[in-house]
Amino acid sequence: MHSSMIGKVEKAMRYAHEPDRVKVGRLTASFSGDNGTHTVSLDADTWHCDCHLFESAGGCSHTLAIQKMLDPMLSDAAKDTPLYGRSEAAALA
Ligand SMILES: [Zn+2]
Repeated sequence: MHSSMIGKVEKAMRYAHEPDRVKVGRLTASFSGDNGTHTVSLDADTWHCDCHLFESAGGCSHTLAIQKMLDPMLSDAAKDTPLYGRSEAAALA
């Protein structure tokens, strides 16, 4: 491998430990929950899930779990959901 490419790989390995460099703008994911598989998406800082709770509450365990997984890679707006706020309060209690 060219030495310049080795430098790029080394930089990537360092970047891989610095997730706050990345902001996820859009995603679609399949979530294997305890009671079934759900499709979760994020687009323009707005979450969606095809489960019943999301429809009534505007958030659910699936979207919250992904928010926690991706936390440093989400914009403030993408963290701004009712359940996310409650999880912060629970962590402090
Ligand atoms: Zn859900």
